[in-house]
Amino acid sequence: MTARMSTHRHARLLPALLLLAALANPALAQTKITPDANKYSPAQDVELGQEAAAEAKKQLPMLNDDRVDDYVEDVGARLAAAIPAEFRHPEFRFTFDVVNQKEINAFALPGGPMFLNRGMMEAAKTEAEMAGVMAHEIAHVALRHGTAQATKGQKFQVGAIAGQILGAIVGGAAGSVIAQGSQFGLGAYFLKYGREYERQADLLGAQIMARAGYDPREMANMFRTIQEQGGRSGPEWLSSHPDPGNRYNAIINESKSLRVQGNANTGQFASIKTRLTGMSPAYTAEQIAKGQARTNRTVGTSGGARTVNVPAPSGSYRTFQPANFLRVSVPSNWEEVESNNGGVTYAPDGGFFQGDNGGTAFTHGVQVGVAQGGSGNLQRDTQQLLNGFARSNPDLQSAGNARRENIGGRNGLTTPLSNVSEVTGEREYITLSTAQLRDGSLLYIIGVAPQPQANQYESAFRRIRQSVQIAD
Ligand SMILES: [Zn+2]
Repeated sequence: MTARMSTHRHARLLPALLLLAALANPALAQTKITPDANKYSPAQDVELGQEAAAEAKKQLPMLNDDRVDDYVEDVGARLAAAIPAEFRHPEFRFTFDVVNQKEINAFALPGGPMFLNRGMMEAAKTEAEMAGVMAHEIAHVALRHGTAQATKGQKFQVGAIAGQILGAIVGGAAGSVIAQGSQFGLGAYFLKYGREYERQADLLGAQIMARAGYDPREMANMFRTIQEQGGRSGPEWLSSHPDPGNRYNAIINESKSLRVQGNANTGQFASIKTRLTGMSPAYTAEQIAKGQARTNRTVGTSGGARTVNVPAPSGSYRTFQPANFLRVSVPSNWEEVESNNGGVTYAPDGGFFQGDNGGTAFTHGVQVGVAQGGSGNLQRDTQQLLNGFARSNPDLQSAGNARRENIGGRNGLTTPLSNVSEVTGEREYITLSTAQLRDGSLLYIIGVAPQPQANQYESAFRRIRQSVQIAD
């Protein structure tokens, strides 16, 4: 459209009494875990994990909601700080990001980067359940299971990871042909573990939970929750973290030997869940695998063609005030990219263009503006505005009937349109929403997205329209 993230007090006791004490204080009986041989250095774990994490962030729709990310980081930091000394690596940096994906899953990469699906957070019944999955993932990292597994593998090459890891992430998610191909990819080393590593991650994860101040039995509960939901979105987790056998009871048994140290509960879990529920729906693995959660396209410029990768609309929103009488909320990963007489444009990174002639266009986003000098008749003024847009967008066409819609408490109209983008030459989906202001002028909101992403963007546009507050 042309126009805008001890005591030793008992030391004198008889040996028999010591034995009794040990039985009475089962903390002495927690399972000892011995990490496998690993030919990589912890520094290499970090390098490989960073590379793969950068790729994951490029390819997956990140939620990019500060409040949710801060919360997950808070819980994650408590868990990471509770890793037993013998499994700590000073090089490791634990980071926590939320992926705007529906399926229940999480994965962690060597050296510490962790990604949690929004679906996993939504499925968890308590903060401790969520922490259970996170502690399990932290245990995989601390035990260096990714590179230990690669050590057992044959042809492992540092540097050949990032390109293949995504196939494993999204492929595993999609359960499709891609997944079959990715089993041969190196990324699979980091994302799919055998039963012994799963057993170790459950046990160390339970120990980490208790040390951090969470009841480790909640990890077992979370796995039960995942299994219950297995028909819909559980298998993804289960396929990458196979049940080592008798999982629930094994964790419960280990928990009997653990003492929960303090109470780590932040008390914020319910409000974070409410926040997630209020967001636009998360993407499915299928949508992500098909590329529907982002737009990859090639744009011809004077400097030659380049690929532009546009991030999907964030599920969280932030509010702007494009005019003193007007408030509107847009996805939090959109920025104000242009403001002039033609209105204010909000677009994601890669969705806004400035031509050599000074003209501008946006391929993804919304423009909010006010058209002066109207007749006071909504339909007539909307038609006049459309005529004006059609002059600068010769391919603009109607794509259906206008429908009445409440915009900011006013009678409004939303008109579906179709256009050919001047930037990409591809068909684009447009909605024009209008509402009359008290002085007779016309408020308009134009949403633009590539036609193949029409459905995803329409849910963002709808939410933007519903967020409008007018105080004229
Ligand atoms: Zn696992």
